Amino acid sequence: MNNLQLSNFIGGEYSAPVNGAYLPLYNPATGAAYGQVPDSSSADVQAAYKAAKQAFPAWSVTPAEQRFQVLNRIAELIDERREELARAESKDQGKPVWLARNEMIRSAQNFRFFATAAMQFASESHAMEDKAINYTLRQPIGVVGCISPWNLPLYLFSWKIAPALAAGNCVIAKPSEFTPVTAWMLGQICQDAGLPAGVLNIVQGLGPSVGQSMVEHPGIKAISFTGGTATGKHLAATAAPMFKKLSLELGGKNPNMIFADAQLDKAVKTTVSSSFLNQGEICLCGSRVFIERSVYEEVKTQLVQAAKEMKVGPPDAEDIRMGAIVSKPHYEKVLSYIELAKQEGATVLAGGLAVFPEGHEQGWYIAPTILENLAFDCRCNQEEIFGPVITLTPFDTEEEVLMMANSTEYGLAATLWTENLTRAHRMASQLQMGIVWINCWLLRDLRTPFGGAKSSGVGREGGWEAMRFFTEPKNVCVSLS
Ligand code: NAD
Repeated sequence: MNNLQLSNFIGGEYSAPVNGAYLPLYNPATGAAYGQVPDSSSADVQAAYKAAKQAFPAWSVTPAEQRFQVLNRIAELIDERREELARAESKDQGKPVWLARNEMIRSAQNFRFFATAAMQFASESHAMEDKAINYTLRQPIGVVGCISPWNLPLYLFSWKIAPALAAGNCVIAKPSEFTPVTAWMLGQICQDAGLPAGVLNIVQGLGPSVGQSMVEHPGIKAISFTGGTATGKHLAATAAPMFKKLSLELGGKNPNMIFADAQLDKAVKTTVSSSFLNQGEICLCGSRVFIERSVYEEVKTQLVQAAKEMKVGPPDAEDIRMGAIVSKPHYEKVLSYIELAKQEGATVLAGGLAVFPEGHEQGWYIAPTILENLAFDCRCNQEEIFGPVITLTPFDTEEEVLMMANSTEYGLAATLWTENLTRAHRMASQLQMGIVWINCWLLRDLRTPFGGAKSSGVGREGGWEAMRFFTEPKNVCVSLS
Protein backbone atom coordinates (compact mmCIF):
# COMPACT_ATOMS: atom_id res chain seq x y z
CA MET A 1 0.00 0.00 0.00
CA ASN A 2 2.67 2.53 -0.94
CA ASN A 3 1.51 5.76 -2.61
CA LEU A 4 -1.91 5.11 -1.23
CA GLN A 5 -4.33 7.85 -2.20
CA LEU A 6 -7.35 8.12 0.05
CA SER A 7 -10.61 9.83 -0.79
CA ASN A 8 -13.77 10.98 0.90
CA PHE A 9 -16.85 8.75 0.97
CA ILE A 10 -19.90 10.91 0.29
CA GLY A 11 -23.33 9.90 -0.96
CA GLY A 12 -22.23 6.29 -1.40
CA GLU A 13 -19.28 7.18 -3.62
CA TYR A 14 -15.59 7.74 -3.16
CA SER A 15 -14.64 11.24 -4.25
CA ALA A 16 -11.65 13.57 -4.28
CA PRO A 17 -11.81 16.65 -2.04
CA VAL A 18 -13.40 19.66 -3.75
CA ASN A 19 -10.24 21.76 -3.36
CA GLY A 20 -8.02 18.95 -4.71
CA ALA A 21 -5.69 19.30 -1.70
CA TYR A 22 -3.98 16.41 0.10
CA LEU A 23 -1.90 15.86 3.22
CA PRO A 24 0.93 13.34 3.49
CA LEU A 25 0.20 10.09 5.29
CA TYR A 26 3.07 8.80 7.41
CA ASN A 27 4.14 5.34 8.50
CA PRO A 28 5.25 5.70 12.14
CA ALA A 29 7.40 2.57 11.85
CA THR A 30 9.69 4.20 9.30
CA GLY A 31 8.90 7.90 9.58
CA ALA A 32 8.33 7.94 5.80
CA ALA A 33 5.26 9.15 3.89
CA TYR A 34 3.38 6.32 2.22
CA GLY A 35 0.28 7.98 0.87
CA GLN A 36 -1.99 10.97 0.84
CA VAL A 37 -5.16 11.84 2.68
CA PRO A 38 -7.63 14.50 1.48
CA ASP A 39 -7.16 17.89 3.11
CA SER A 40 -10.90 18.51 2.76
CA SER A 41 -12.70 21.76 3.41
CA SER A 42 -16.14 23.01 4.38
CA ALA A 43 -17.24 22.38 0.78
CA ASP A 44 -16.86 18.61 1.35
CA VAL A 45 -18.69 18.85 4.67
CA GLN A 46 -21.49 20.66 2.86
CA ALA A 47 -21.63 17.94 0.16
CA ALA A 48 -21.74 15.29 2.90
CA TYR A 49 -24.50 17.18 4.66
CA LYS A 50 -26.55 17.36 1.46
CA ALA A 51 -26.18 13.60 0.93
CA ALA A 52 -27.00 12.80 4.57
CA LYS A 53 -30.03 15.09 4.61
CA GLN A 54 -31.36 13.48 1.47
CA ALA A 55 -30.88 9.97 2.86
CA PHE A 56 -32.44 10.74 6.26
CA PRO A 57 -36.20 10.51 5.50
CA ALA A 58 -35.88 6.94 4.21
CA TRP A 59 -33.27 5.72 6.74
CA SER A 60 -35.11 7.16 9.73
CA VAL A 61 -38.17 5.01 8.97
CA THR A 62 -36.29 1.92 7.81
CA PRO A 63 -37.65 -0.90 9.97
CA ALA A 64 -35.39 -1.78 12.90
CA GLU A 65 -34.93 -5.30 11.58
CA GLN A 66 -33.50 -3.98 8.31
CA ARG A 67 -31.16 -1.64 10.18
CA PHE A 68 -30.13 -4.64 12.28
CA GLN A 69 -29.38 -6.67 9.15
CA VAL A 70 -27.22 -4.02 7.50
CA LEU A 71 -25.24 -3.24 10.67
CA ASN A 72 -24.78 -6.91 11.38
CA ARG A 73 -23.52 -7.44 7.83
CA ILE A 74 -20.99 -4.63 8.34
CA ALA A 75 -19.77 -6.52 11.42
CA GLU A 76 -19.44 -9.74 9.39
CA LEU A 77 -17.50 -7.98 6.65
CA ILE A 78 -15.12 -6.43 9.20
CA ASP A 79 -14.57 -9.93 10.55
CA GLU A 80 -13.96 -11.29 7.06
CA ARG A 81 -11.46 -8.54 6.29
CA ARG A 82 -9.88 -8.57 9.78
CA GLU A 83 -6.33 -9.35 8.71
CA GLU A 84 -6.29 -6.76 5.95
CA LEU A 85 -7.79 -4.11 8.24
CA ALA A 86 -5.45 -4.98 11.10
CA ARG A 87 -2.37 -4.69 8.88
CA ALA A 88 -3.59 -1.36 7.51
CA GLU A 89 -4.31 -0.06 11.04
CA SER A 90 -0.96 -1.19 12.36
CA LYS A 91 0.90 0.48 9.50
CA ASP A 92 -1.09 3.69 9.85
CA GLN A 93 -0.99 3.98 13.65
CA GLY A 94 2.19 2.20 14.70
CA LYS A 95 0.46 -0.31 17.01
CA PRO A 96 1.55 -3.97 17.04
CA VAL A 97 -0.34 -5.95 14.42
CA TRP A 98 -1.47 -8.49 17.06
CA LEU A 99 -3.13 -5.66 18.96
CA ALA A 100 -4.72 -4.26 15.80
CA ARG A 101 -6.29 -7.70 15.19
CA ASN A 102 -7.96 -7.51 18.63
CA GLU A 103 -9.20 -4.00 17.87
CA MET A 104 -10.74 -5.19 14.60
CA ILE A 105 -12.65 -7.81 16.60
CA ARG A 106 -13.94 -5.04 18.84
CA SER A 107 -14.80 -2.81 15.83
CA ALA A 108 -16.99 -5.61 14.47
CA GLN A 109 -18.49 -6.08 17.95
CA ASN A 110 -19.43 -2.41 18.04
CA PHE A 111 -21.54 -2.84 14.90
CA ARG A 112 -22.95 -6.19 16.08
CA PHE A 113 -23.83 -4.83 19.51
CA PHE A 114 -25.64 -1.76 18.17
CA ALA A 115 -27.31 -3.82 15.44
CA THR A 116 -29.09 -5.68 18.22
CA ALA A 117 -29.71 -2.40 20.07
CA ALA A 118 -31.63 -1.18 17.02
CA MET A 119 -33.98 -4.14 17.54
CA GLN A 120 -34.31 -3.75 21.31
CA PHE A 121 -34.47 0.00 21.85
CA ALA A 122 -38.05 0.96 22.68
CA SER A 123 -40.34 3.65 24.02
CA GLU A 124 -40.97 3.97 27.74
CA SER A 125 -44.46 4.55 29.03
CA HIS A 126 -45.63 6.08 32.30
CA ALA A 127 -49.18 5.58 33.45
CA MET A 128 -50.84 8.28 35.62
CA GLU A 129 -53.34 5.97 37.25
CA ASP A 130 -56.71 6.50 35.54
CA LYS A 131 -55.89 10.04 34.34
CA ALA A 132 -53.48 9.62 31.45
CA ILE A 133 -50.79 7.57 29.87
CA ASN A 134 -47.49 9.02 28.71
CA TYR A 135 -45.28 7.40 26.18
CA THR A 136 -41.86 8.70 25.22
CA LEU A 137 -40.91 8.41 21.60
CA ARG A 138 -37.20 8.38 20.97
CA GLN A 139 -36.78 9.66 17.48
CA PRO A 140 -33.60 9.94 15.41
CA ILE A 141 -32.11 13.42 15.53
CA GLY A 142 -31.35 13.82 11.82
CA VAL A 143 -27.84 14.44 10.56
CA VAL A 144 -25.23 13.91 13.27
CA GLY A 145 -21.44 14.25 13.39
CA CYS A 146 -18.86 11.80 14.74
CA ILE A 147 -15.26 12.93 15.27
CA SER A 148 -12.64 10.47 16.47
CA PRO A 149 -8.94 10.43 17.49
CA TRP A 150 -5.89 8.49 16.29
CA ASN A 151 -5.20 6.11 19.16
CA LEU A 152 -7.79 3.38 18.50
CA PRO A 153 -8.83 4.45 15.02
CA LEU A 154 -11.51 2.05 13.74
CA TYR A 155 -12.47 0.91 17.24
CA LEU A 156 -13.50 4.43 18.30
CA PHE A 157 -14.83 5.47 14.89
CA SER A 158 -17.21 2.48 14.88
CA TRP A 159 -18.09 3.01 18.57
CA LYS A 160 -19.77 6.27 17.53
CA ILE A 161 -21.05 5.49 14.06
CA ALA A 162 -22.77 2.22 14.97
CA PRO A 163 -25.20 3.64 17.58
CA ALA A 164 -25.83 6.76 15.49
CA LEU A 165 -26.91 4.58 12.55
CA ALA A 166 -28.76 2.08 14.74
CA ALA A 167 -30.88 4.92 16.11
CA GLY A 168 -31.86 5.97 12.58
CA ASN A 169 -29.61 8.98 12.02
CA CYS A 170 -27.53 9.81 8.99
CA VAL A 171 -23.89 10.44 9.81
CA ILE A 172 -21.02 12.65 8.78
CA ALA A 173 -17.87 11.18 10.28
CA LYS A 174 -14.32 12.40 10.47
CA PRO A 175 -11.45 10.15 11.52
CA SER A 176 -8.15 11.58 12.70
CA GLU A 177 -5.97 12.94 9.92
CA PHE A 178 -3.13 10.87 11.42
CA THR A 179 -4.94 7.53 11.04
CA PRO A 180 -7.51 7.72 8.24
CA VAL A 181 -6.96 4.43 6.40
CA THR A 182 -9.35 2.00 8.09
CA ALA A 183 -12.13 4.63 8.11
CA TRP A 184 -11.58 4.97 4.36
CA MET A 185 -11.82 1.17 4.01
CA LEU A 186 -15.03 1.18 6.05
CA GLY A 187 -16.80 3.12 3.29
CA GLN A 188 -16.44 0.15 0.93
CA ILE A 189 -17.51 -2.26 3.65
CA CYS A 190 -20.68 -0.27 4.31
CA GLN A 191 -21.45 -0.20 0.63
CA ASP A 192 -20.88 -3.97 0.31
CA ALA A 193 -23.16 -4.48 3.32
CA GLY A 194 -25.98 -2.60 1.59
CA LEU A 195 -26.00 0.58 3.67
CA PRO A 196 -27.96 3.04 1.52
CA ALA A 197 -26.03 5.89 -0.11
CA GLY A 198 -25.72 9.00 2.02
CA VAL A 199 -26.49 7.27 5.33
CA LEU A 200 -22.80 7.31 6.29
CA ASN A 201 -20.48 9.94 4.85
CA ILE A 202 -16.78 10.03 5.71
CA VAL A 203 -14.91 13.31 5.25
CA GLN A 204 -11.16 13.18 5.64
CA GLY A 205 -8.99 16.08 6.74
CA LEU A 206 -7.83 18.32 9.53
CA GLY A 207 -9.67 19.21 12.71
CA PRO A 208 -9.60 22.99 12.36
CA SER A 209 -11.08 22.75 8.84
CA VAL A 210 -13.28 19.63 8.50
CA GLY A 211 -14.02 19.10 12.20
CA GLN A 212 -14.64 22.77 12.80
CA SER A 213 -16.99 22.99 9.77
CA MET A 214 -18.95 20.05 11.14
CA VAL A 215 -19.32 21.67 14.54
CA GLU A 216 -20.26 25.01 12.98
CA HIS A 217 -22.76 23.53 10.51
CA PRO A 218 -26.25 24.53 11.65
CA GLY A 219 -27.84 21.41 10.14
CA ILE A 220 -25.67 18.93 12.08
CA LYS A 221 -27.66 18.69 15.28
CA ALA A 222 -25.47 16.53 17.49
CA ILE A 223 -21.75 15.84 17.71
CA SER A 224 -20.11 12.87 19.35
CA PHE A 225 -16.45 13.71 19.86
CA THR A 226 -13.52 11.77 21.27
CA GLY A 227 -10.20 13.54 21.57
CA GLY A 228 -8.17 15.88 23.72
CA THR A 229 -9.59 18.07 26.48
CA ALA A 230 -8.36 21.32 24.88
CA THR A 231 -10.10 20.44 21.60
CA GLY A 232 -13.23 19.44 23.50
CA LYS A 233 -13.28 22.80 25.26
CA HIS A 234 -13.03 24.66 21.95
CA LEU A 235 -15.68 22.46 20.38
CA ALA A 236 -18.09 23.00 23.26
CA ALA A 237 -17.65 26.79 23.01
CA THR A 238 -18.34 26.69 19.26
CA ALA A 239 -21.42 24.50 19.62
CA ALA A 240 -22.96 26.20 22.66
CA PRO A 241 -24.72 29.12 20.90
CA MET A 242 -26.41 26.62 18.56
CA PHE A 243 -27.58 24.44 21.50
CA LYS A 244 -26.12 21.38 19.87
CA LYS A 245 -26.25 18.10 21.66
CA LEU A 246 -22.70 17.12 22.55
CA SER A 247 -21.05 13.99 23.83
CA LEU A 248 -17.42 14.63 24.75
CA GLU A 249 -15.00 11.82 25.57
CA LEU A 250 -11.78 13.58 26.52
CA GLY A 251 -8.38 13.05 28.10
CA GLY A 252 -7.34 11.28 31.27
CA LYS A 253 -4.55 10.95 33.82
CA ASN A 254 -5.65 7.73 35.37
CA PRO A 255 -4.54 6.46 38.78
CA ASN A 256 -3.65 2.81 39.28
CA MET A 257 -3.60 1.99 43.01
CA ILE A 258 -1.94 -1.14 44.34
CA PHE A 259 -2.58 -2.05 47.99
CA ALA A 260 -0.33 -4.44 49.91
CA ASP A 261 -3.16 -6.94 50.28
CA ALA A 262 -3.64 -7.25 46.50
CA GLN A 263 -2.84 -10.36 44.48
CA LEU A 264 0.47 -8.81 43.53
CA ASP A 265 1.33 -11.11 40.62
CA LYS A 266 -1.92 -10.28 38.90
CA ALA A 267 -1.63 -6.59 39.78
CA VAL A 268 1.89 -6.35 38.36
CA LYS A 269 1.08 -8.30 35.20
CA THR A 270 -1.97 -6.16 34.45
CA THR A 271 -0.14 -2.96 35.37
CA VAL A 272 2.46 -3.72 32.70
CA SER A 273 -0.41 -3.76 30.17
CA SER A 274 -2.32 -0.84 31.62
CA SER A 275 0.88 1.22 31.46
CA PHE A 276 2.24 0.30 28.04
CA LEU A 277 -0.43 -1.30 25.86
CA ASN A 278 -0.68 0.52 22.52
CA GLN A 279 2.50 2.44 23.52
CA GLY A 280 0.52 3.91 26.42
CA GLU A 281 -1.71 5.66 23.88
CA ILE A 282 -5.04 4.56 25.36
CA CYS A 283 -7.13 7.12 27.20
CA LEU A 284 -7.69 4.44 29.89
CA CYS A 285 -4.01 3.64 30.53
CA GLY A 286 -3.03 4.04 34.17
CA SER A 287 -0.18 6.53 33.99
CA ARG A 288 0.07 7.25 37.73
CA VAL A 289 0.88 4.10 39.66
CA PHE A 290 0.45 4.40 43.44
CA ILE A 291 1.90 1.55 45.49
CA GLU A 292 1.43 0.95 49.22
CA ARG A 293 4.77 1.57 50.87
CA SER A 294 5.21 -1.89 52.41
CA VAL A 295 5.21 -3.51 48.94
CA TYR A 296 6.65 -0.56 47.02
CA GLU A 297 10.14 -1.95 46.44
CA GLU A 298 8.84 -5.40 45.51
CA VAL A 299 6.30 -4.08 42.98
CA LYS A 300 8.74 -1.52 41.63
CA THR A 301 11.42 -4.16 41.02
CA GLN A 302 8.99 -6.34 39.10
CA LEU A 303 7.62 -3.50 37.00
CA VAL A 304 11.09 -2.24 36.14
CA GLN A 305 12.22 -5.71 35.16
CA ALA A 306 9.16 -6.19 32.94
CA ALA A 307 9.67 -2.80 31.27
CA LYS A 308 13.33 -3.55 30.58
CA GLU A 309 12.43 -6.89 29.02
CA MET A 310 9.71 -5.43 26.83
CA LYS A 311 10.56 -5.64 23.14
CA VAL A 312 9.97 -2.43 21.19
CA GLY A 313 10.10 -2.64 17.41
CA PRO A 314 8.38 -2.46 14.04
CA PRO A 315 4.64 -2.97 14.46
CA ASP A 316 4.40 -5.78 11.89
CA ALA A 317 6.76 -8.01 13.91
CA GLU A 318 4.66 -10.51 15.82
CA ASP A 319 7.04 -10.74 18.79
CA ILE A 320 7.12 -7.10 19.85
CA ARG A 321 5.18 -5.73 22.82
CA MET A 322 5.32 -2.07 21.80
CA GLY A 323 5.35 -0.51 18.33
CA ALA A 324 5.90 3.06 17.19
CA ILE A 325 4.44 6.35 18.44
CA VAL A 326 1.72 7.60 16.10
CA SER A 327 3.31 10.78 14.76
CA LYS A 328 6.43 12.88 14.91
CA PRO A 329 4.77 15.73 16.88
CA HIS A 330 3.41 13.27 19.42
CA TYR A 331 6.78 11.47 19.67
CA GLU A 332 8.43 14.80 20.37
CA LYS A 333 5.75 15.71 22.91
CA VAL A 334 6.25 12.46 24.86
CA LEU A 335 10.05 12.88 24.84
CA SER A 336 9.66 16.48 26.02
CA TYR A 337 7.63 15.26 29.02
CA ILE A 338 10.42 12.84 29.90
CA GLU A 339 12.84 15.79 29.86
CA LEU A 340 10.42 17.83 31.96
CA ALA A 341 10.18 14.96 34.45
CA LYS A 342 13.97 15.00 34.83
CA GLN A 343 13.84 18.75 35.48
CA GLU A 344 11.14 18.11 38.04
CA GLY A 345 13.53 15.76 39.84
CA ALA A 346 12.48 12.36 38.52
CA THR A 347 14.66 9.31 38.78
CA VAL A 348 14.44 7.28 35.57
CA LEU A 349 14.07 3.62 36.56
CA ALA A 350 13.54 2.25 33.05
CA GLY A 351 13.57 3.67 29.52
CA GLY A 352 13.53 7.43 29.38
CA LEU A 353 14.77 7.59 25.82
CA ALA A 354 14.04 7.03 22.18
CA VAL A 355 14.69 3.62 20.62
CA PHE A 356 16.11 3.04 17.12
CA PRO A 357 15.28 -0.51 15.99
CA GLU A 358 17.61 -1.88 13.32
CA GLY A 359 16.35 -1.03 9.85
CA HIS A 360 13.77 1.37 11.29
CA GLU A 361 16.06 4.08 12.65
CA GLN A 362 13.89 6.89 11.28
CA GLY A 363 10.72 5.57 12.99
CA TRP A 364 9.26 7.04 16.17
CA TYR A 365 9.96 4.62 19.02
CA ILE A 366 10.21 5.28 22.75
CA ALA A 367 11.27 2.79 25.42
CA PRO A 368 8.74 1.93 28.15
CA THR A 369 9.57 4.51 30.75
CA ILE A 370 9.19 4.31 34.53
CA LEU A 371 9.84 7.36 36.69
CA GLU A 372 9.86 7.89 40.45
CA ASN A 373 10.55 10.61 43.00
CA LEU A 374 8.02 13.02 41.55
CA ALA A 375 5.58 15.03 43.65
CA PHE A 376 1.96 14.01 43.06
CA ASP A 377 1.14 17.58 42.00
CA CYS A 378 4.03 18.21 39.61
CA ARG A 379 3.22 18.74 35.93
CA CYS A 380 4.24 15.22 34.90
CA ASN A 381 1.75 13.84 37.42
CA GLN A 382 -1.02 16.24 36.48
CA GLU A 383 -0.88 16.58 32.69
CA GLU A 384 -1.78 13.91 30.16
CA ILE A 385 1.36 12.57 28.44
CA PHE A 386 -0.44 9.84 26.46
CA GLY A 387 2.64 7.72 25.83
CA PRO A 388 4.65 4.86 27.35
CA VAL A 389 5.50 6.80 30.49
CA ILE A 390 4.38 6.02 34.05
CA THR A 391 5.27 7.42 37.42
CA LEU A 392 5.53 5.39 40.64
CA THR A 393 4.52 6.96 43.95
CA PRO A 394 4.39 5.25 47.36
CA PHE A 395 1.48 5.82 49.75
CA ASP A 396 0.77 5.02 53.39
CA THR A 397 -2.98 5.34 53.84
CA GLU A 398 -6.21 5.01 51.93
CA GLU A 399 -7.02 8.70 52.52
CA GLU A 400 -3.67 9.76 51.12
CA VAL A 401 -3.94 7.73 47.93
CA LEU A 402 -7.52 8.85 47.42
CA MET A 403 -6.46 12.48 47.70
CA MET A 404 -3.63 11.99 45.19
CA ALA A 405 -5.82 9.96 42.81
CA ASN A 406 -8.46 12.72 42.76
CA SER A 407 -5.93 15.56 42.54
CA THR A 408 -5.91 16.09 38.76
CA GLU A 409 -8.39 17.96 36.58
CA TYR A 410 -9.21 14.64 34.91
CA GLY A 411 -11.66 11.97 35.97
CA LEU A 412 -11.77 9.24 33.37
CA ALA A 413 -10.82 5.91 34.95
CA ALA A 414 -9.16 4.40 38.01
CA THR A 415 -7.87 0.93 38.82
CA LEU A 416 -7.77 -0.48 42.32
CA TRP A 417 -5.89 -3.58 43.42
CA THR A 418 -6.97 -4.91 46.82
CA GLU A 419 -8.53 -8.01 48.31
CA ASN A 420 -10.29 -5.89 50.92
CA LEU A 421 -13.85 -5.75 49.65
CA THR A 422 -15.13 -3.00 51.90
CA ARG A 423 -12.20 -0.76 51.04
CA ALA A 424 -12.68 -1.45 47.33
CA HIS A 425 -16.33 -0.37 47.42
CA ARG A 426 -15.63 2.56 49.74
CA MET A 427 -12.94 3.89 47.44
CA ALA A 428 -14.95 3.24 44.29
CA SER A 429 -17.68 5.50 45.59
CA GLN A 430 -15.19 8.27 46.43
CA LEU A 431 -13.08 8.26 43.28
CA GLN A 432 -14.09 11.14 41.01
CA MET A 433 -14.03 9.04 37.86
CA GLY A 434 -16.41 7.76 35.21
CA ILE A 435 -15.02 4.23 35.42
CA VAL A 436 -13.47 2.26 38.29
CA TRP A 437 -11.91 -1.15 37.74
CA ILE A 438 -11.36 -3.36 40.77
CA ASN A 439 -8.76 -6.08 40.31
CA CYS A 440 -8.95 -5.81 36.54
CA TRP A 441 -8.37 -3.32 33.75
CA LEU A 442 -9.98 -2.64 30.37
CA LEU A 443 -12.66 -5.23 30.93
CA ARG A 444 -15.50 -3.74 28.92
CA ASP A 445 -19.16 -4.68 28.75
CA LEU A 446 -20.61 -2.64 25.90
CA ARG A 447 -23.88 -2.14 27.82
CA THR A 448 -22.24 -0.07 30.56
CA PRO A 449 -22.05 3.75 30.55
CA PHE A 450 -18.68 4.87 29.26
CA GLY A 451 -17.20 8.33 29.80
CA GLY A 452 -15.41 10.64 32.14
CA ALA A 453 -16.02 13.05 35.00
CA LYS A 454 -14.45 16.52 35.46
CA SER A 455 -12.32 17.55 32.44
CA SER A 456 -12.48 14.03 31.01
CA GLY A 457 -15.79 14.61 29.35
CA VAL A 458 -19.45 15.37 29.26
CA GLY A 459 -22.08 12.67 28.86
CA ARG A 460 -21.78 8.94 28.53
CA GLU A 461 -21.73 6.56 25.58
CA GLY A 462 -22.23 2.81 25.40
CA GLY A 463 -25.41 0.73 25.53
CA TRP A 464 -28.64 2.65 25.99
CA GLU A 465 -26.68 5.79 26.87
CA ALA A 466 -25.47 5.99 23.28
CA MET A 467 -28.93 5.22 21.89
CA ARG A 468 -30.36 7.95 24.10
CA PHE A 469 -27.70 10.42 23.01
CA PHE A 470 -28.46 9.79 19.35
CA THR A 471 -32.23 10.22 19.75
CA GLU A 472 -34.51 13.06 20.73
CA PRO A 473 -37.05 12.07 23.39
CA LYS A 474 -40.59 13.29 22.86
CA ASN A 475 -43.17 12.70 25.53
CA VAL A 476 -46.77 12.21 24.40
CA CYS A 477 -49.43 12.46 27.11
CA VAL A 478 -52.81 10.93 26.32
CA SER A 479 -55.79 11.63 28.54
CA LEU A 480 -57.76 8.58 29.51
CA SER A 481 -60.85 10.51 30.58
P1 NAD B 1 -7.45 15.78 19.21
O1 NAD B 1 -8.36 16.49 20.12
O2 NAD B 1 -6.24 16.48 18.69
O3 NAD B 1 -8.23 15.28 17.90
C1 NAD B 1 -9.36 14.46 17.97
C2 NAD B 1 -10.18 14.66 16.70
O4 NAD B 1 -10.69 15.99 16.70
C3 NAD B 1 -9.38 14.52 15.41
O5 NAD B 1 -10.18 13.90 14.44
C4 NAD B 1 -9.07 15.96 15.06
O6 NAD B 1 -8.84 16.15 13.68
C5 NAD B 1 -10.36 16.64 15.49
N1 NAD B 1 -10.24 18.08 15.75
C6 NAD B 1 -9.15 18.81 16.07
N2 NAD B 1 -9.48 20.11 16.18
C7 NAD B 1 -10.80 20.21 15.96
C8 NAD B 1 -11.73 21.30 15.95
N3 NAD B 1 -11.35 22.56 16.16
N4 NAD B 1 -13.03 21.02 15.72
C9 NAD B 1 -13.45 19.76 15.51
N5 NAD B 1 -12.60 18.70 15.46
C10 NAD B 1 -11.31 18.92 15.71
O7 NAD B 1 -7.07 14.43 19.95
P2 NAD B 1 -6.04 13.33 19.47
O8 NAD B 1 -4.66 13.85 19.68
O9 NAD B 1 -6.43 12.82 18.12
O10 NAD B 1 -6.36 12.15 20.50
C11 NAD B 1 -5.76 12.02 21.73
C12 NAD B 1 -6.68 12.48 22.83
O11 NAD B 1 -7.90 11.77 22.78
C13 NAD B 1 -6.12 12.22 24.21
O12 NAD B 1 -6.33 13.35 25.01
C14 NAD B 1 -6.93 11.05 24.72
O13 NAD B 1 -7.04 10.95 26.10
C15 NAD B 1 -8.25 11.33 24.09
N6 NAD B 1 -9.06 10.12 24.04
C16 NAD B 1 -10.15 10.04 24.90
C17 NAD B 1 -10.92 8.88 24.90
C18 NAD B 1 -12.11 8.75 25.81
O14 NAD B 1 -12.90 7.85 25.58
N7 NAD B 1 -12.29 9.61 26.79
C19 NAD B 1 -10.59 7.83 24.04
C20 NAD B 1 -9.49 7.96 23.21
C21 NAD B 1 -8.73 9.12 23.21
